[in-house]
Amino acid sequence: MTAIFYSDYNNKMKVLKGVPASPGFAIGRAYLYNDDELNVPEYEILEAEVVSEMERYRTAVARAIEELELLQAREHSDPDGFLATHIMMLRDPEIDAKIDIQLAKTKKNVEWVVQDVVNELLRKLGTVQDVYLKERTMDIRDVSRRILQHLLGKAVHSSLAELKGEAILVTSNLLPSDAVAMNKKSVLGLVMDAGGNTTHTAILARSFEIPAVLGCVWATREIHNGDWVVVDGENGQVLINPAEAVIEEYIQRKILHEKTQADLKVLGGLPCVTLDGRTFQLNANIEIPDEVENVLAHGADGVGLYRSEFLFIQNGANVSEEIQCQAYRRVLEGMEGRPVTIRTLDLGGDKLAPDLYPAKESNPLLGWRAIRFCLADRKIFQTQLRALLRASVYGNLKIMFPMISGVGELEQVLAILEEVKNQLTSEKVPFAPNIPIGTMIEVPSAAMVSDHLARLVDFFSIGTNDLTQYTLAVDRGNERIASLYEPFHPGVLRLIKLVIDNAHEAGIPVAMCGEMASNSKAALILAGLGLDEFSMNAVGLPKMKSVLRSLTYSEAEHVAEDVLKMRRSDEIEAFVTAYSQGRFSPSE
Ligand code: PEP
Ligand code: MG
Repeated sequence: MTAIFYSDYNNKMKVLKGVPASPGFAIGRAYLYNDDELNVPEYEILEAEVVSEMERYRTAVARAIEELELLQAREHSDPDGFLATHIMMLRDPEIDAKIDIQLAKTKKNVEWVVQDVVNELLRKLGTVQDVYLKERTMDIRDVSRRILQHLLGKAVHSSLAELKGEAILVTSNLLPSDAVAMNKKSVLGLVMDAGGNTTHTAILARSFEIPAVLGCVWATREIHNGDWVVVDGENGQVLINPAEAVIEEYIQRKILHEKTQADLKVLGGLPCVTLDGRTFQLNANIEIPDEVENVLAHGADGVGLYRSEFLFIQNGANVSEEIQCQAYRRVLEGMEGRPVTIRTLDLGGDKLAPDLYPAKESNPLLGWRAIRFCLADRKIFQTQLRALLRASVYGNLKIMFPMISGVGELEQVLAILEEVKNQLTSEKVPFAPNIPIGTMIEVPSAAMVSDHLARLVDFFSIGTNDLTQYTLAVDRGNERIASLYEPFHPGVLRLIKLVIDNAHEAGIPVAMCGEMASNSKAALILAGLGLDEFSMNAVGLPKMKSVLRSLTYSEAEHVAEDVLKMRRSDEIEAFVTAYSQGRFSPSE
């Protein structure tokens, strides 16, 4: 998946392979976002803390080594032997001893000591003439960055919001919080060492219509600041320093892609109805209120998922009721009466607010996330519910809860909602009557008990990103096991069918807001299973509309029936690919 190969028609050009995470083409100069921006705090420590600080350092080093060894095992190759060199540097007892001595001498926190020792080393190397030694500075920076990242928990704050000009952003790993914060106008394309197609950074890149290739493991090693880079988000390729003729070819491809997108947009005004008359609701997923204009431009029937946690990621966990209410109102008014499903806070996993989660969890995706966090911190949850209810008078609001795993949890949530409604009524604060309430189905246990859940809510929305991850026990962000992340797995499809059948039995509609909803090959199956609403990044809507308008519901039913008899995901995928070929030529 991530091999490097060299093009034959231009010796200087390198091509990297990765995951096509956001469609389109971008051409520009590389801007390497590295951890020169790491914010290293400086504070005094007590004599007694020297030992525990050294222990923190050793743990960070051990984690960094583990990370590099994993990378070595995965890649079966090590260009220039740099991984081995870095591991050797991390194991160097002399550096260990230096840090120990400096800790005892300065009585400063260990991150600061590491930075100080490294700066001193770099200063010394700056004066030597030996080219080989000079080149080691890059390695020292890289290794120390890795240690500091582990010590600090993450790459703390970004200068990406202040980006000027236009560039291709090349980085080892961009946190979703940095992706929302960055100046999107300046980022023509995104290339990342880490990541997969359903990570939130990929989702954001699609939302912002920034072509992206993720899981491109050698990118930060191979690309240098100022290099010419072509990001081919269609095929998951990154071209480094291509010849002028190649750039010209990609400019033409970019123009063609944009024209196709524009042609598809014309479908915006037409209903999403199959050839035999079945209508589907096509909604958009958004992360920030600014996206509403784009959502309308792509002809959405509504917003099927507003990931409200990004408001908290940007403003901190204690974002006020008033600020929240204004943001929700903006979306509701912007959508001019169309339905808007706002999902309550889904923090955790890869989505962290700056002032939350001081303690690191060893398994955050299975940890204190989403509704679990809201039920533990009632104040934050109640404030959000108040803001949502207050905003409800400005449009057509639906409220949805994430990560519900069973009836008990949902009943607790509904009881809190009732309490908040009573509070507002007693304060004479108006809110819309009969706001539809829904739950996400993204935990396998919720799918299994969806017959019970369906009797407590007005709608379901299937979150296939998490449902697939939890059903198959495959971390959706881990590129090493990306091939095991199979949305067409019969186990996943059976759960989807079960959820739809149970919902319809109880008389409620089912939406899907995971990335599978935008996969045009999956559309055949999903439509045939009876899904009522598809919700996806706005950019995918016209394509999906053209697919659904060109099939009949009855053929989709047959496809779904056939597929459910199959035993393997590759068999299913091959079947729908062959079936789609020449019909609606899906791009996935
Ligand atoms: C999902 O899990 O499919 C989903 C839509 O939620 P998120 O991607 O925000 O976890
Ligand atoms: Mg989810």
